[in-house]
Amino acid sequence: MNQAQRRHLRWLLFGQQDGRCFYCRKPMALSFAAKDHIWDNAATLEHLHRKAEGGKGGGNLVLACRECNQRRDERPWPDYRMARLDGRTA
Ligand SMILES: [Zn+2]
Repeated sequence: MNQAQRRHLRWLLFGQQDGRCFYCRKPMALSFAAKDHIWDNAATLEHLHRKAEGGKGGGNLVLACRECNQRRDERPWPDYRMARLDGRTA
């Protein structure tokens, strides 16, 4: 996937998810400027199944806020999502 395709996908997913994080459902900020990716609520592409598990392709991708994306580590996404929605810091 090249940069233009990644941008397009982020824009598409942002609309599909009503601008909300896949995990915590908080509103995200969609920006295409690299310097904005330091925001905690920056919309980032997230692989549901880690590449190590063989995850790739469009159906495997969602948008998550940077904070959720960074905290997840190697946890299975359904467990992590449940924890984030509960308001637990996970
Ligand atoms: Zn989030």
